Amino acid sequence: MSVTKNIQLLQAELPQGVRLVAVSKYHPNEAILEAYNAGQRVFGESKVQEMVAKYEALSKDIEWHFIGHLQTNKIKYMASFVSLIHGVDSLKLLKEIDKQAAKAGRRVKCLLQIHIAQEETKFGFTPNECKEMLDQGEWRELKNIQLCGLMGMATNTDSTEQVRAEFSSLSSLFDELKSAFFTHDEAFCELSMGMSDDYPEAIEAGSTLVRVGSKIFGERVY
Ligand SMILES: *Cc1c(COP(=O)(O)O)cnc(C)c1O
Repeated sequence: MSVTKNIQLLQAELPQGVRLVAVSKYHPNEAILEAYNAGQRVFGESKVQEMVAKYEALSKDIEWHFIGHLQTNKIKYMASFVSLIHGVDSLKLLKEIDKQAAKAGRRVKCLLQIHIAQEETKFGFTPNECKEMLDQGEWRELKNIQLCGLMGMATNTDSTEQVRAEFSSLSSLFDELKSAFFTHDEAFCELSMGMSDDYPEAIEAGSTLVRVGSKIFGERVY
């Protein structure tokens, strides 16, 4: 099926309040353009250089979300244009984003990545590490970042039960952190969870941002 058709089907399926991040990593500009022409404006990339090249080549009304694993030395290349960084998993990264955002004269939106999967390969704070970081309070002094919520990836498994349990644990953590640290902060409202194989379960558990790649663009060739 075509990218256009895939986007239309997905958009029709998403309830109100859930936004689609079209994950275009490893796909060429032509594929992004096709999604763009179908009305899609939010795209997710996982490599900084690739995102910068696409940003430079394509329409400036695209919202670029960085969904990959972050390296401190790469933040400077995207600080001037990135719309949302999904995978922040340390205070050190938050400080570096703050520094680069200040240089670019911006406030950059970030999500804290939480490790919810039973897989070592996935990144993120444990729930306790995240609470400790927020409790410690140094993040409040970082004026050029804005914490907008949480991001997580479920285990890659056929067990729908396990995936549901992991998403629901992330959703509970969101509620807990919201009431402990962000009650009066309307910006803390995003829960980024769900990919091609598990976005329906993520939506059931309260996702506000689904990150869907292969279901739109087909398999990636690495
Ligand atoms: C690649 C990627 C996705 C999209 O995965 P699909 O299975 O192709 O939908 C979503 N989130 C993250 C963090 C990714 O790296």
